[in-house]
Amino acid sequence: MDCLFCKIVAGEIPSHKVYEDDFVYAFLDIYPCSEGHTIVLPKQHFTRFTDMDEKDAANLFAAVNKVVKNVEKILELEGANIGINNGEIAGQTVQHVHVHIIPRREGDNGGSMHTIVGTKPSRDNLAELAENIRNSF
Ligand code: 5GP
Ligand code: ZN
Repeated sequence: MDCLFCKIVAGEIPSHKVYEDDFVYAFLDIYPCSEGHTIVLPKQHFTRFTDMDEKDAANLFAAVNKVVKNVEKILELEGANIGINNGEIAGQTVQHVHVHIIPRREGDNGGSMHTIVGTKPSRDNLAELAENIRNSF
């Protein structure tokens, strides 16, 4: 499969690895948003987070939890944004699911999750929307 991140996992393309176990591989982003910007991905190819089952997703986030703790410790951070661009509409450019760990620092001029979408929806259907989602499980 012609996947950039599968090639990184296989060692066919070099990367600055920070962590590896049976399930995940983590490395520094080549175009960092901030110093220490780290990518964590499952070694197995899944295009999107929503293609993974609950067990694989749990393994991925267990590793993310470990990696964030050490990135924060080594870089002496007070916090980080942790997230997935799930689908091209959400900004995903590499079609192999991956979690971004983006270190945050005082005065970095960054935003929060609240700044991702520019146009806010109406709040008048929250009860109906929640019920629809609840009933879908
Ligand atoms: P996405 O936009 O799909 O959520 O994130 C893809 C990320 O992969 C980007 O932050 C980009 O900088 C990073 N990236 C793309 N190509 C490479 C590469 O060859 N090596 C590394 N280390 N990171 C890459
Ligand atoms: Zn892949």
